[in-house]
Amino acid sequence: MAFQIDLVLPLLQKEVADYKVPVVDLIAAQTRDPFKVLVATILSARTKDEVTAAASRRLFKKADSADELAALSVAELEKIVYPVGFFRNKAKYLAALPDALKNDFAGQVPDTVEELIKLPGVGRKTANLVVAVAFNKPAICVDTHVHRIMNIWGYVETANPLKTEMALRDKLPKKYWITVNSILVAFGQGTCKPRLPHCDRCVIADFCPRIGVTPRTIHSKKSKKSGAKQFGSAYPRFVSWNVNGLRAVLKKGFLDIFHELNADIFALQEIKAMPDQLPDEVKHIPGYHTYWYPAQKKGYSGTAVFSRKKPLEVIYGLGKKELDQEGRVLTLEFEDFYFINIYFPNAQQGLKRLDFKLEFNRQVLFWMDQLSRSKSVVLCGDLNVAHKEIDLANPKNNVKNPGFSPQERAWMDEVTGAGYLDTFRLFNHEQEQYSWWSYRYNARAKNIGWRIDYFVVDPASRDRVKNASIHADITGSDHCPVSIEFI
Ligand code: SF4
Repeated sequence: MAFQIDLVLPLLQKEVADYKVPVVDLIAAQTRDPFKVLVATILSARTKDEVTAAASRRLFKKADSADELAALSVAELEKIVYPVGFFRNKAKYLAALPDALKNDFAGQVPDTVEELIKLPGVGRKTANLVVAVAFNKPAICVDTHVHRIMNIWGYVETANPLKTEMALRDKLPKKYWITVNSILVAFGQGTCKPRLPHCDRCVIADFCPRIGVTPRTIHSKKSKKSGAKQFGSAYPRFVSWNVNGLRAVLKKGFLDIFHELNADIFALQEIKAMPDQLPDEVKHIPGYHTYWYPAQKKGYSGTAVFSRKKPLEVIYGLGKKELDQEGRVLTLEFEDFYFINIYFPNAQQGLKRLDFKLEFNRQVLFWMDQLSRSKSVVLCGDLNVAHKEIDLANPKNNVKNPGFSPQERAWMDEVTGAGYLDTFRLFNHEQEQYSWWSYRYNARAKNIGWRIDYFVVDPASRDRVKNASIHADITGSDHCPVSIEFI
């Protein structure tokens, strides 16, 4: 039977509406500027979307027009766009772009494939994408995802992207030309991945002949050892709490709270202690395996995790020496998920430590992306950022302050834009739901707080999250615990 493209593409369009938007579409939607779309498209070749997004942001800060781009040298451009793939070549193309636009197109970005391919660094794929995305004109951009998936469907039988483009020009109804690239890029990144596609949760599985495909082994809720089975509870509960000093909170009833919350995994941030400074009653809680990751500096930062189930492996840090001295990232691998406990750095007054924090954030997102390729990812901790205005009591007064600066919030946008889920907001959209209150100004009593403690899961694990809560009634720290139930 012929492949039912008219059924499949509309189904997928709906499906990918919640997925990460491909970076070039995002830039087009945000800027409506053909010049920026063209530049981002040039940067995006052979580069992960998050890297392209960050490089584009850095570049547009310095040059958001052809005239401003002309003022940057190749060496400056190399520095700005690094680490996009082939950054040296791309820097050369970008340096030559203003003159090419000025000399041949009166300084304007042209809107046809034939004209665009005359520009430096612009091939057919880039040109088609710019025509479709920036000018909303019919063009079929065939990248590896479109080429690969169209062949998996048997809709075309072609040896390379150029042949696919030509075959699609003959065959694909024109109404799909503009959108087919963004749909299949999002779908190819989120479900029909190049290695081990998720046929187990694919909405078009019934229509797909899966030509040449090896689907991934199902690891999530259909696994014999789902979270529930591994931990022996119907709905395993995970708790995260920034205790702001474990020795201090021990004197305020930590162990009672610990047992009352009855967690299967209990993650702590800001323990501010070495294990040998702690009493046995917390180092060896019966029924739990405990993992400590203190900072090298005494009395500062540090994380710990208590788990009822022994993990397969424990990974300390991000593997980056400069980021791993403060004991901030502790990852436990279980059979069908990774649990990442993180104490994110504070950007500090005057945003003095913002650069360190942004680099840390970048590496964390990279880590999440790496791990979520094979298993579910549950990330928890004090993220030290309120994402949206609803997440703090006084957004207007804090626009430039650490924890609510545009740069920190932009990283949260990147995380959710990549499809990761802020689990609390899956269940609760109410105002005044906070997890941290300053010790000053009687803030907790007045509920002048911030929601900066989160559980975040990867997009494919949405259905595994059964509940998410903030335990604002639990005192002992300036943060309160947050929790999820995860099957
Ligand atoms: S069934 Fe599998 S191979 Fe076919 S489109 Fe879905 S994920 Fe891709």
